[in-house]
Parts: sequence; C-alpha cells; structure tokens
Amino acid sequence: MNDDLDAAKIEAKRQEMERTLRRGLSKLDKILPRVLRQSGLERRLREHALFSLWPSVAGEVLAKRSRPLYVDLQSNIVITVSDSAVAQEITLARMQFLQKLAPLSRAAGVEIRGLRVDLKHYHHKDEPQPEEEHVTLPDPDEEELRTIQLGPEQALMLQQLTQDLTEQGKESDPRQEKINKRVLMTYELQLRLGIWRKSRGFPVCQACGFAVSRLHSREQLKVCFNCYVQSPEK
Ligand SMILES: [Zn+2]
Repeated sequence: MNDDLDAAKIEAKRQEMERTLRRGLSKLDKILPRVLRQSGLERRLREHALFSLWPSVAGEVLAKRSRPLYVDLQSNIVITVSDSAVAQEITLARMQFLQKLAPLSRAAGVEIRGLRVDLKHYHHKDEPQPEEEHVTLPDPDEEELRTIQLGPEQALMLQQLTQDLTEQGKESDPRQEKINKRVLMTYELQLRLGIWRKSRGFPVCQACGFAVSRLHSREQLKVCFNCYVQSPEK
C-alpha cells in the first residue's frame, strides 16, 4: 500500500520535473539566437566564408596587409594588420567597412557589431612551431575545389544556410540577393576545402572541428588558430 503511494508520488514528481524541463527548453529555444544553435563547425565555416570576402570590403591593397582573425564575444570582427599605418587606415575607415560588411554578415548569419584591429597576430603564420602537429601542403585553388563532392554532413550545412537565406529573402532587395549568392558560393568552397584538407591528413581542431594546417595548444586542447586567439587566456 505504502509502496504504491510512494510510487505514485515519485511518478508525480517525475512528471513535474519533465514539464519544468520542457518549459525551460522551449523557452531556451526561443531566446537562444540562431547563431548559438549552430554547431561550432558550422559557425567557423560561415565565418571563414565571410572572412574570405574581406578583399571586397577593404580593397585589394589593404587586404594584402590585413586579414580577419575572428569575431570576439562582443561581435566585433577582429582584423589583424601588418603594421600601425594599416591599423590607422582601417580604424579611420571603420564605419565604411562595417557598412560594407553588413549585407555580407547578414548573408553568412554571422553577427558583426563592431570592428577592431589587432597588431599582434599578423605574422603568426610564419612562426615555426615544429613541436606541434602540422602539415605544409598548400591549399588547392578554386578549380580543384570545384571537383570535390560534398558529403551528407556538408550538404546539410549548405542546405541550412540556403534555408536561412530564403527565410530572410522575403524582405531583401536584389542587391542583397546577389550578395547572398556570393556568400553561399564562398561557403560551399569552405565546405569543400574542409573535405579536401581532411582527405590530405590535415589535423582537425578539437574545439570547432575545422581541418587546418597547424594546431595550437590551448587548455589541454589542440585547436585551430581562430579558436586559439578567440578564447581568452586564463
Ligand atoms: Zn577551431
């Protein structure tokens, strides 16, 4: 008799907990921005697609002496520069660059609210780090990338971005549509690059899953350079 009562109590408690959990989850789902629901890899690839369009924002000349590194926690795009003259030039043109970035970042689904420059990491690529896992193969050109077949995972990620863009498309103008297409194409190239790199034995970042030529140690993890500079040192 008592056992039955206890069992009923336990069952009632369980159901209550389940309801609370469900309520919490659906609330979470509503408040979490889309960007947080994306997988780390999806997010990283979208950023890379956006970053590869940097020359169209900064112009070829400035783009040769600067490159986007990552998007920080305050949604600033962090641009690393070769020297202080370039830093000054980019800082002065900041508002103009942010305006040009806006339709691109909207298409990529990467929120950009500000821009800041970084003078520390521009030459990082050239620093020898023989103790860390790396490959020295150069990346393939666009033509070679186009011959690579997307796997189911990449096809899904491409479909997700296409879907995001279609949802936005309702209120967008023809110019935005052109930009969307361009971002989509760049994104697809990033997906193909990922496949190509993995098949060539490039090491994979333990934080975001992107295949890169070299990994860096950060808090017991081997991570890509973007993840490395993005996570604040403790
Ligand atoms: Zn990473």
